[in-house]
Amino acid sequence: MRAMILDRPGSPLRLTQLPDPRPAPGQILVRVKACGICRTDLHVVDGDLTEPKLPIVPGHQIVGVVAAVGEGVLPGQGEVAAVGEWTPDFRVGQRVGIPWLGGSCGRCAYCREGRENLCDEARYTGYQIDGGFAELCVADARFCFPIPEGYPDLQAAPLLCAGLIGYRSLRMAGEGRRLGFYGFGAAAHILIQVARWQGREVYAFTKAGDKAGQAFARSLGAVWTGAADTAPPEPLDAAIIFAPAGELVPAALRAVRKGGTVVCAGIHMSDIPSFPYDLLWGERVVRSVANLTRADGEEFLQLAPRVPVKTEVQTFPLEAANEALNRLRRGQIQGAAVLVVWEE
Ligand SMILES: [Zn+2]
Ligand SMILES: [Zn+2]
Repeated sequence: MRAMILDRPGSPLRLTQLPDPRPAPGQILVRVKACGICRTDLHVVDGDLTEPKLPIVPGHQIVGVVAAVGEGVLPGQGEVAAVGEWTPDFRVGQRVGIPWLGGSCGRCAYCREGRENLCDEARYTGYQIDGGFAELCVADARFCFPIPEGYPDLQAAPLLCAGLIGYRSLRMAGEGRRLGFYGFGAAAHILIQVARWQGREVYAFTKAGDKAGQAFARSLGAVWTGAADTAPPEPLDAAIIFAPAGELVPAALRAVRKGGTVVCAGIHMSDIPSFPYDLLWGERVVRSVANLTRADGEEFLQLAPRVPVKTEVQTFPLEAANEALNRLRRGQIQGAAVLVVWEE
C-alpha cells in the first residue's frame, strides 16, 4: 500500500510503499477513504509529543470501509468485546471511523470507570499505532465507530477528533450560555454549530488581525469576534482554548465571570505564564481535556447529524500531506484539512 510515513520528528513525511497490514484478532482492516488532519498530527511531526512509534503513519481522523475482519470481532466473541460497553459489530463493506484513542488496557480503574481516555496504557492512532495517511490501516474494533448514514466521508473525517474531543471540551465547559472559543480552527468551527443548536452564544477569539478567521467565525454565527487579548463585551460563562498557546489561559480567565470554567482542549500547549491569583479567584476553574472516551464518540456521532454539523473542508491528495500540514501550521486552513485517499 502507499503511505506517508514519518521517519523522525522534524523531518517531512515520506511517500513510500508498505506491506498491506493484516487484521489480528479483534482488529478490522480498513480501506481508507479520507483522513482528517489535526493539530496533533503537527505536534507528532514536529516532535512536541515525545513518544511516537517510529517510523509512524500519522493520521487519526480516519473514515474508511471495512475490508476484512480479524478473528474475534464478530458477534458472540465475548472475550474481545468485554472491554467496556462499546462493542460495535462491524461487517465487511461497512463504513467506519477510527479516532485518536486506539486502545486501552481495559483493566485499570480508569478503564473500568468508562474513563479509558486517562488509561496509563492507552495507545493512540497515528502516534503509537499506524494511522490513516495510508491506503489501508488496521484498528482495534472496540475503539472504532460506525459513521452515521448519509454523512459524506469528507464531512465525517473532521468529526473524529476535532469533533469528538471538541465535544468533550464543550461538555466540560458546563451549561453556561456565553461561550468563548480561543482559536477558530477545525474544532471550533464544528463546536460553534453544536453550541448554537443548544441555544448558546459563541464569542470567537483569534490572533490579532486575523480578519479572515473572524469573518469565518461570524459566518458560522459567532455573536462577537476579536483578538485573543481583548475583553469580550460581556463576561463569559466559560471559555474553551483550542489554540496551543499557554498565554491564552490567563487571557481566558480574565474573560470569564466568577465561577466560570476555562477548558484547555489541546493535547499539547506551550507553557502557561504565571498570573496573579486574582484571575483564578472567585471559583474560576481551569481544566484540561484529555483524548476521548468511546461514550463521547457514540454520543457525538449520534448528535452531529441531528444538528446537523456541516464541516467545511479543504482537501488534499495523500501525497500532499506535507503541504496540508504546512498550511495548517501557518494558519492557512479554513475549517478542516482532509486527505482524500480513495474515492469510490
Ligand atoms: Zn486502562
Ligand atoms: Zn486530533
